[in-house]
Amino acid sequence: MRTPLVIGNWKLHGSTAEVEALISALGAKSGVETAVCPPYVYLSQARGLLAGSAVGLGAQNCAAEKSGAFTGEVAAAMLADVGCEYVLIGHSERRTLFAETDAHTVAKVGQALDAGLQPVLCVGETLEEREQGHTLDVVLGQQNAVLDAFTAEQLGPLVLAYEPVWAIGTGRTASAEQAQEVHAAMRAKVSEYSQHLADGVRILYGGSVKPGNAQELFAQPDIDGGLIGGAALVADDFMAICQAANGGSA
Ligand code: PEP
Repeated sequence: MRTPLVIGNWKLHGSTAEVEALISALGAKSGVETAVCPPYVYLSQARGLLAGSAVGLGAQNCAAEKSGAFTGEVAAAMLADVGCEYVLIGHSERRTLFAETDAHTVAKVGQALDAGLQPVLCVGETLEEREQGHTLDVVLGQQNAVLDAFTAEQLGPLVLAYEPVWAIGTGRTASAEQAQEVHAAMRAKVSEYSQHLADGVRILYGGSVKPGNAQELFAQPDIDGGLIGGAALVADDFMAICQAANGGSA
């Protein structure tokens, strides 16, 4: 039985006042693991505001290296040190806007695992790739790069997130059937490495998830929660999505 997980990715949004307002409006939902990923500079503030709450904390990225002369980077161990439990890796905005490759995601997943974080590996195809019939090649290729680099035991903390690039921030969501098809293929591929890992790994869906479409998506057998962008900046919407991950029960 996999516990549903809903993570809010705040991207490049926020201020100390907004972080305080948003976090104070969040609460844990029973039966669902939840977390928020503010920008790096607000992580410590968020940790303090979340003290005593079951809402977890994550970062949006981490360095591919452990330490050293890498100006501007933030190491996975530093994220763990300030109280993070999760780190997003390979978000499509990192892949497309910051030229992150599978080699980077592999290195970052390694750093996250070493630091005791749960890496949330994001994979997804562009619209062009989908229209050319390459969805599974792209998604499973990004996933396999990481699966090939570690043992199933090492990957115990791994979380996967299917985020079709054409659905991120566009208001266009994959249908529940489209998402389930990809999630099932992702889980089937993980099972070729380890059935135990496949049974336990949470595969989140991300891409314009809103209160109105969350329940149908989360009802699919291989969708174990969501990675939420825009709607995570509106406390009521994020809470409604978290509730949908618990089958709609409060
Ligand atoms: C995301 O950035 O991971 C995301 C899913 O964004 P949105 O929900 O805004 O599409």
